Amino acid sequence: MNHRSIAIDGPSGAGKSTLAKRLAQELGFLYVDTGAIYRTVGLAALRRGIDLSDAAQVAAVLPQLTITMGYGEDGLQRMCLDGEDVTAAIRENEISACASKVAAIPAVRDFLMEMQRKAAREHDVIMDGRDIGTVVLPRADLKIYLTAAPEARAERRCRELLERGQQANFDQVLREVVERDRRDTQREAAPLRQAEDAVLADTTGLDLEGSFQLLLGIIRERLGMEEGSHAE
Ligand code: C5P
Repeated sequence: MNHRSIAIDGPSGAGKSTLAKRLAQELGFLYVDTGAIYRTVGLAALRRGIDLSDAAQVAAVLPQLTITMGYGEDGLQRMCLDGEDVTAAIRENEISACASKVAAIPAVRDFLMEMQRKAAREHDVIMDGRDIGTVVLPRADLKIYLTAAPEARAERRCRELLERGQQANFDQVLREVVERDRRDTQREAAPLRQAEDAVLADTTGLDLEGSFQLLLGIIRERLGMEEGSHAE
C-alpha cells in the first residue's frame, strides 16, 4: 500500500515540530522529527569529544553508533543512542549547534537517509526537517516550507527554553538562530531551501493556533482531505 507523506521544511524556530506533531495527531499520520535524529548524532559526537566540524573524525564514529527511533505509548517519537533513551538529552540548547555542525557532513546525511525513508515507506507521515521535500522525500504528496522572521523565531525559542526551566537571553538566542540559518542554508550538503513545488507558509505574526489552522487548511485543500477524515 502506498502511504501518504507530507514534508515540512524550514529554518529553526519556525514551529515545525510543534505544528507537525499536532497535525499528525489531527490527521492520524505518524510524526517524524528528523532534527531529533541529527541531534542524536550531534550528542554522540560531543560525548566522544571529537571535533564536530572535522568530517573525517565524525564519519569514523558513525559505524560505532546504534541509533534507533521508536514511539512511546503517548505516540511521541523517542530517540535511543546505544541503548540509552536520549530523547530529553538531545533537547539541551548546546545540542542544537552540535546537530547543525554534524548535519553539514555528507557522510552523516547518507548514514541517516534510510532511517527517514523507511518511516515514509511504512506509514503515512508528516516529516519535518531541512531537506525533506528536496532530498529525502522528493515525491512527497505535499511539501510545505514553513518560515517566520528571525526575531519571531528567536522569541519563540526563548519562550520554549524558559518553559523548560533553561536560561534564555533574547539577543544571544537571536544570534544563534541567525548563525544556524546561515549554516543550514549555506552548507553544500542538502542545504535548507524551499523546494520548487513547496507551498510557502509564513507564520510571522501568527500564534500557534493561527499557524495550525493555516497549515491544516493547506493540507486539507491539497490532499483533498475532508474535515473529520482520519487515516486508518
Ligand atoms: O529541527 P532541529 O532544530 O531539531 O534540527 C537540528 C539541526 O539538525 C538543524 O539546525 C539542522 O542543521 C539539522 N537538520 C538537518 N536536516 C534535517 C533536520 C535537521 O540538517 N532534515
